[in-house]
Amino acid sequence: MQMTHYPEIQLYIDGRWKSAPGQPVINPADETEIGVVPHATTQDLDAALQAAEKGLRVWRHTSPAERTRVILKASQIIRERVDDMARTMTLEQGKPLDQARLEIIRGCEIIEWDANEGRRVYGRVIPAEDGMRHTVLRQPIGVVAAFSPWNFPMSSPARKVAGALSSGCAIILKASEETPAGAVQLVRAFHDAGLPAGVLNLVFGQPAEISSYLIPKPVVRLVTFTGSIPVGKQLAEMTGRHMKPSIMELGGHGPVIVCDDVDPVATAATSVVGKSRNAGQVCVSPTRFFVQQDIYKRFTEAFAEKAKAIKVGDGLDPSTQMGPLANVRRLEAMETLVANAKNKGARVLAGGSRLGNRGYFFPLTVLADVPDDARAMQQEPFGPLALINPVRTLDEAIDKANALPYGLAAYAFTRSAANAERIAADVEVGNLSINHFVASSAETPFGGVKESGYGREGGTEGLACYTVVKNVSHRTA
Ligand code: NAD
Repeated sequence: MQMTHYPEIQLYIDGRWKSAPGQPVINPADETEIGVVPHATTQDLDAALQAAEKGLRVWRHTSPAERTRVILKASQIIRERVDDMARTMTLEQGKPLDQARLEIIRGCEIIEWDANEGRRVYGRVIPAEDGMRHTVLRQPIGVVAAFSPWNFPMSSPARKVAGALSSGCAIILKASEETPAGAVQLVRAFHDAGLPAGVLNLVFGQPAEISSYLIPKPVVRLVTFTGSIPVGKQLAEMTGRHMKPSIMELGGHGPVIVCDDVDPVATAATSVVGKSRNAGQVCVSPTRFFVQQDIYKRFTEAFAEKAKAIKVGDGLDPSTQMGPLANVRRLEAMETLVANAKNKGARVLAGGSRLGNRGYFFPLTVLADVPDDARAMQQEPFGPLALINPVRTLDEAIDKANALPYGLAAYAFTRSAANAERIAADVEVGNLSINHFVASSAETPFGGVKESGYGREGGTEGLACYTVVKNVSHRTA
């Protein structure tokens, strides 16, 4: 296997890279230390705040055409570096190389769409009596504090950076300490593309210390967070106390409604691919399968058979289909959830326990007939667990899909237009995909309802979150 170099991880403040002591970065495939992520001091955070304030003054007055040019150049640079970046991502996060490449290309698509759309952030002129004009301006909201997680080391920060910069905002990004290189390489591309100093800043450290330091600062006008619901609630309390808008992209517990008018074997095969993506460590991962009774047996058998065939291994090995879990916490969570479900009476049809004792490998695990009171049915597994249960009717499936406080992504498989209409009308989520497992793309709004959060990333709705509306009422005569 080709050796892969792991880049030096540094802070990036006011256009300059800075080394500092910090904590080790671990390769989840073999538990070795591959690098060190520096921790920002409060002086560093103050410097980032000052730099962002200065960067905002420059960037909001830069023409949209010039902003677009710089952002698109950064994306071009990333595309040229995709192979190197993908290997780094696999090393720090574990996902197979082809999925890492896909994430980076997808990140570029998001950056490019936002950059182009940033030229079309229009205002409005509202008709008024003679001698009066009302003009609605859409202005950049200001400095953004962004917090991105470890499951998508490049595309999650890319969404936040692209949204902010395309709207004329400056940003301080605190990316994940566990997978920091994705963000470092993203930021390096913007640096190399000639982004003015201060517009984009990157810090790492103790997440709670950084968020509680940055969020109350008057210069910060928007907070965007992707991560767990408990942390999202803490940050939402803080943003509320300081009257700051926020985008909260939190967890999900993806229901999948499988109607009896589809091919159960083909749907099971597609579902296994959807479930295995990023070893299930995806907020939109399909998790609770509600399958109509007539096809339940054939669906579960096919699902288990395909799941057993998924090759788990080091993501750098081209034959690997599912890499290790990204950290030891996920491994422990899978073991606990499976043990609890078994105790409650669930049947284990595939997987179920850790593979080997070096690296955080856990197989795609299929549990059938899982009681509603099993913890996995209520708590987001955020790992390779598929829970399959029979339902008699579509009404029952929809009730079960809506039973949890989550509302991020849902999926449905049916050939019936009437079923699809009913599901689209009544399933409580921000993103519903029918007959496929892609929950979002660059041009579509992505986000949750209920405890899965608020605000949107992507699409015109996403960009709108980075602007404020000002009405200028002008008597001209
Ligand atoms: P966690 O709750 O400790 O942390 C979740 C994320 O929030 C991490 O990226 C962490 O660095 C960050 N974080 C934690 N405390 C913070 C704070 N006070 N201020 C700012 N950032 C903070 O859980 P974890 O073990 O890292 O991840 C597991 C859970 O997180 C999963 O069960 C899943 O629900 C959720 N998660 C969701 C997403 C998503 O895409 N929505 C991504 C990663 C993790």
